[in-house]
Amino acid sequence: MNPDVSLCAHLGSLALESLPIAPADILEWRDAPVLAIARCDSCERLGLLELVGWDHEKNVRTYSLAGLDPKPLAVFLRDLARGSCDPARLAKEGESLLASAGPVARRVSLDENGAVLKIERSHS
Ligand SMILES: [Zn+2]
Repeated sequence: MNPDVSLCAHLGSLALESLPIAPADILEWRDAPVLAIARCDSCERLGLLELVGWDHEKNVRTYSLAGLDPKPLAVFLRDLARGSCDPARLAKEGESLLASAGPVARRVSLDENGAVLKIERSHS
């Protein structure tokens, strides 16, 4: 975790209404996006979404949201595109991407269309 990386005011807003995840921004998929990039529509900043809870009955997914610098993401995507089929290596790269993200600032619950159902400050 990099304490110097923070969410922009838009992605960090507690009034955020939707946070759609573009298919190209899904880094890891296990029946749903597990690790994904959130892109701010108002500025160029990024966020990192990590699935932390999933209510299958209501189909509500809860993610932690942290700021992310574009640079470590570019490295991760480049390595991914190179076709590293070694799952152990890929897991390691995912870990280093997580390590480069800022502190988890928000916890966001989304429906399957990316509408924000609940957003709160994270204390972790
Ligand atoms: Zn922004």
